[in-house]
Amino acid sequence: MLLKDKIAIVTGGSRGIGLEVAKTLAGQGAHVVIVSTKLENSQRVAGELTQEFSVPTLGLQADVADEGSVQAMIKAVMDQWGRIDVLVNNAGITRDNLLLRLSVEDWQAVLNTNLNSVFFTTKAVLRPMMKQRYGRIVNIASVVGLMGNPGQANYAAAKAGIMGFSKTVAREYGGKGITCNVVAPGFIETDMIGSLPKDYLDNIIQNIPQQRLGTPKDVANLVLFLASDLSSYITGEVVRVDGGMRM
Ligand code: NDP
Repeated sequence: MLLKDKIAIVTGGSRGIGLEVAKTLAGQGAHVVIVSTKLENSQRVAGELTQEFSVPTLGLQADVADEGSVQAMIKAVMDQWGRIDVLVNNAGITRDNLLLRLSVEDWQAVLNTNLNSVFFTTKAVLRPMMKQRYGRIVNIASVVGLMGNPGQANYAAAKAGIMGFSKTVAREYGGKGITCNVVAPGFIETDMIGSLPKDYLDNIIQNIPQQRLGTPKDVANLVLFLASDLSSYITGEVVRVDGGMRM
């Protein structure tokens, strides 16, 4: 059990990569907090995890793009368990369009949900983590933040922003027992890429050395490593999970 009795928050834990991360952490003994915009989804998943892995869980509603909502969510976790060991910033959205057609609303929505959220949640967990002199922060970015992608200027900017932010957190709080690392997935089979045309994805797969899309489990395994003590001397790092696509 790599995370026995650790308190772990997973934003966007109701489906896709976040759901698999939540399952993987619960499977290693963590008390997992599922956060999504819909309370019924968070509570349903939390109940399923408790049944499957016999660990205490909590399902909470929060809009990670809203600082007040994030603060209320963190307070609820502190009221319940009094500490926070692991924060996985996974919630994210896309609003794709070529830059000339990209609206201010779609720019802001993606920056708010994918980048401002990471500022809000990280700031809110720092005090408890500093007091504990222990914390593991894992931020889910994307290879798009490293290489850019046509139609995703907003998303690429947010994901690149996460990388600079995380390195700064790693520098500021490295001496307090807190690590902060970034996972940069390639193309992973979830709802998020479900609307992409098949020929577009076939073309992508041809350019992946491993010749396949990634699975949520591929990402969750790395998150587990970075959330555990196996990675205690790793901080400020960006690790790709992309089948070699961006090497
Ligand atoms: P999904 O669309 O499958 O799931 C997104 C999750 O985020 C849902 O649980 C959703 O819950 C939650 N969420 C969205 N907005 C908010 C919000 N404002 N507040 C709280 N929760 C929210 O996405 P993926 O699993 O594919 O992606 C997860 C992360 O991985 C994202 O950060 C994404 O950018 C990143 N990523 C994904 C890749 C892929 O190919 N799939 C590749 C690279 C990175 P609900 O809607 O119920 O609120």
